[in-house]
Amino acid sequence: MSEFVRRVTRAPRPLASRLNQLDIELTERCPNDCVHCWIKRPAHDADARRREMTTEQVKDVLRQAADLGCLQVRLTGGEPLLRPDFEEIYVFARRLGLKVWIFTSGRPITPRLADLFARMPPLRVIEITVYGMRRETYEAVTRAPGSYAQFRRGLELLLERKVPFVVKSAVLPQNKHEIAEFEAWAKTLPGMTRPPGHAMFLDLRARGDAAERNALIKSLRLPPPEGLALMTRDAAGYRREVTRFGDKFMGPRGDRLFHCGAGECISIDAYGCVQPCMSLRAPEWTIPLTRDTRLADALDRYAGLRDLRATNPEYLRRCARCGLKGLCEQCPAKSLMEHGTLDTPVEYFCEVAHAQARYLGWLGSQEYGWEVENWKERIDRSQAAAGAG
Ligand code: SF4
Ligand code: SF4
Repeated sequence: MSEFVRRVTRAPRPLASRLNQLDIELTERCPNDCVHCWIKRPAHDADARRREMTTEQVKDVLRQAADLGCLQVRLTGGEPLLRPDFEEIYVFARRLGLKVWIFTSGRPITPRLADLFARMPPLRVIEITVYGMRRETYEAVTRAPGSYAQFRRGLELLLERKVPFVVKSAVLPQNKHEIAEFEAWAKTLPGMTRPPGHAMFLDLRARGDAAERNALIKSLRLPPPEGLALMTRDAAGYRREVTRFGDKFMGPRGDRLFHCGAGECISIDAYGCVQPCMSLRAPEWTIPLTRDTRLADALDRYAGLRDLRATNPEYLRRCARCGLKGLCEQCPAKSLMEHGTLDTPVEYFCEVAHAQARYLGWLGSQEYGWEVENWKERIDRSQAAAGAG
C-alpha cells in the first residue's frame, strides 16, 4: 500500500461473486507509433511477445470471468487485433456468452475477420480511433507509412458487411484543424447514433517508464482555454448537459480516494497481471494471476480500495474540499501517472475543471473550487439560466 495513503479498518468483505466487466489488454504491441500513445510497444517487440499471456491463459481468464457472472469483456491493447490468436480468443469469448467490446485502429481488419464479425457479432459496437481525415494528417500522428490506407480499407470491410462500429478521435496539434470535417464525416456512418467522442486531455503513460515519452505527451496537450473552446462549440448544449450532470455529481467528496468503478470492472494487462482499472498500475494493487491466485481473489482484495483515504496535505486542502471533483479528471490513477502517488492534485486537470466552472458561472474569476460552500445554490442558479436560455 502507498505510504501516502492510510487504510481505514473495516470488517473483511465476503468473497466477491460478481464481476461487471473485464478489460483485457491483449498486447502492448501496435503497428502504429502514435505520438500521444500511453502504452505502445513496437509490433515486432520479441521480448513483449514472449511475455504475453498464451492463448490458453487468456481463455482461462475468460472462463474465470464468466464464472464470476461477467457479461462483457473489452479487448484492447496496444492493437488487440495484432495477436495471431485474436480470432480464437474472440470466438471463445462469444461462445461463453460474453459481449465483446473491441477497441482498435481498424488497420489489421482483414476480409476474414470482418466476415467473422458479420457471422458472429460482438454484440457491442466496435470502437475505432481515427487520427486524421487524410493521409498526411493521419500519418503525422501514427508515424506509420501506409497506415491511413489500411485503416480506410478496414472500415470499408466492416461497412460492406454491415458490421456496426463507431468512430472516435484523439484531438492533437496534428489533426485539430480537421475536427469539424471529422464530425461531419462521422455523421454519415451508419453506426453513429450520436456525435463522436474525442480524447481531448491526454493522459501520461500509465507505466511511468519513459520520461521522454511523457514530455512529448505534455507538449501535445491542448491548453485548457483551447479545450474549453472546443467543448463549448455548441454552447447551449454544453451548458445544458454539464449543468444536468453537475446537479447530480458536484460537491466535495472528502478524503476517500475512490468514487469510481475501479476494482469492480477490473483489468488484466498483456502479461497476466490484474489491476483495479486499466489506468491504475500501482504495484501494491497489481496482482499476477497464477494457478492459486484467481480473478475472484483479486476482486476480493480490491474491495479494500473503498477504504483508502488521502493523507497528502495538498490533496486534503484542495481536492478533498473541492466542489469540482465530479467535473475534474483528477483521480488516483491520473495522480499516479503524473506524480507517483494516489493523492496528489493534477494541475493540468485542475486548470481544465476551473476553466469550465468559470465559463459556467459556478466560480468567479479569482475563486477556486475548494473555497466555495454554496455549490447547490450556484448550480441551481446556472440551471435556471440554462433553462431560460
Ligand atoms: S481511471 Fe481513475 S476514475 Fe477511472 S476507474 Fe481508474 S481510478 Fe477510477
Ligand atoms: S479541480 Fe483541482 S482541487 Fe478540484 S478536484 Fe480537481 S485537481 Fe483537485
